[in-house]
Amino acid sequence: MGYKKILVTSALPYANGHIHLGHIAGAYLPADIYVRYQRLRGQKVLYIGGSDEYGVPITLTALKEGTTPKDVIDRYHNANAEAFRRLGISYDIYGRTSWDLHIDTTQSFFTNLYNKQYIFPREMELWYSTKTNRFLPDRYVKGQCPRCGYEDANGDECEKCGAQYSAKELINPRANIPGDNSTPVLKTSLHWFLNLPKFQEKLTQWLESHPEWRSNVRGIAWSWIEDLRPRCITRDTDWGVPIPLDHPDAMNKRIYVWFDAPIGYVTNTRQWGIDKYNDPYAWEDWWKNPDTRLIHFIGKDNVPFHAVIFPAMLMGQDNFILADNVVGNEYLNIFNRRTGKSEKGSKSRGNMIRVSWAIDKLGTNSIRYYICSIMPESKDSDFDWNEFRNHYNGELCDIVGNFVHRTLTMIMKNFDGKVPSPGIMDEADNAMLSAISTAKEGVAESIETFRFRLALERWVDLARKANVYFDSKQPWATRKTDIERTGTTLYVCAQVVKALAILMNPFIPDGSLELCSIINYEIKQQGPEGGDDIWEEITKPLHAGFSLNPPKVLFPKMEAEFIEQIAEEHEKGLAS
Ligand SMILES: [Zn+2]
Repeated sequence: MGYKKILVTSALPYANGHIHLGHIAGAYLPADIYVRYQRLRGQKVLYIGGSDEYGVPITLTALKEGTTPKDVIDRYHNANAEAFRRLGISYDIYGRTSWDLHIDTTQSFFTNLYNKQYIFPREMELWYSTKTNRFLPDRYVKGQCPRCGYEDANGDECEKCGAQYSAKELINPRANIPGDNSTPVLKTSLHWFLNLPKFQEKLTQWLESHPEWRSNVRGIAWSWIEDLRPRCITRDTDWGVPIPLDHPDAMNKRIYVWFDAPIGYVTNTRQWGIDKYNDPYAWEDWWKNPDTRLIHFIGKDNVPFHAVIFPAMLMGQDNFILADNVVGNEYLNIFNRRTGKSEKGSKSRGNMIRVSWAIDKLGTNSIRYYICSIMPESKDSDFDWNEFRNHYNGELCDIVGNFVHRTLTMIMKNFDGKVPSPGIMDEADNAMLSAISTAKEGVAESIETFRFRLALERWVDLARKANVYFDSKQPWATRKTDIERTGTTLYVCAQVVKALAILMNPFIPDGSLELCSIINYEIKQQGPEGGDDIWEEITKPLHAGFSLNPPKVLFPKMEAEFIEQIAEEHEKGLAS
């Protein structure tokens, strides 16, 4: 590959609500698994996240609550940062687009594009309330969708059918501000546009150089590139980054949130370098270093921004690298047990599962395991409580947990808690040991190609094989007749336990660390500066005589009634 550094980003969640499991399945858990794996490999990997804190929905929330936008973003930024932390999403920094530093980064992006004539002004007709004397951007105006007729469509896009249109196409518009639902009038306003068609050739070449990307991402990106239009990048609002132009029409307007949000990755990298090294230029060694491999993890709805618009914005700067991969997941839907149908997660339905609620009820291990096992990599998938129980109890408890527990219990009872000395190895012993190498290679290969479900299956499969091996060797029976044979079996099993512990680390870090402490094996924590290739230790044996600690139940089974009770709370809307 030749890359010396890996820069990973997860989409910045919007600080206007709590993150839920649908977000986790889309942009966060896959990125975290990937980053944790690369850290184990000793790679120089930096993982950037943060809150997206500007834009009209936030000011609207503040108006409705009678509070300030700052109050809204503080609340959700802190809550979401804490939810990520509890779930083990291991950012190197979780920043904020409301930081002053972000104004500087965003204005520098804007100015570079402006000076290179990629940004131009144009007059637009927009809805204006004569009652409150203000323009009505985005959600500040509602009306009927000109495409599908949906009655509650926003000023420039319809949430129902996904259509985008110019404001004046909206049918029967009405202001949508607390205290103002008057009928607005059209009024002219000057705005600034990013001239995307100027990037068409470069974008085409870049996309053609990445045939390895997922087909869903490529499909969406191509459909955009074939029909590029200038995009308005300013709004009539006071909540956003000021426009760095000395122009009377720029004063009361701000840069539009979709322009500044992805720049947040750069801002947060700058802040990380300042925090860690007191070096305001450390970020350039990532973003302007051709030896850096940039990977964006996102949900499907973010593909146009990360595969078309942000790359164009980077092309208009000096010496920025472009993404080497944009890993976009499909949607995680909710399986409704009453209707027997899958449905989209939505605020109004109240069917979404807040991350902090889920952790309170279920802990992190089971959530990370289940979400990874159903990750919507190539098509939408369903969160389904029956399946949650089947996957967690049937795989994590019964296959992985059970194998680890019976191996360690027998070593405690029969070998004083020490890894036994192996005798002569037979074919089955050697096959079991070589299955460890196969799993090590297989899990690595699938994580590196962003197939996290397959990676998890390959990990579980090692434990599945080990249970078959354990059953066929019957150490509980041979210990009465042939203790040397029993020792050989348990020596082999101990090697599998160690391998399972390290392989588990990217997927279920808490469970992995707990198992590591039981087997007295320490996984060194490595960061952006790189380190040792710990992954290679998967196949290095625990030596005979090495002391282990008494086993604990790593993954306690969840009773059907317990899950049922939680599922019912969710179905009553208590989880959102
Ligand atoms: Zn519509």
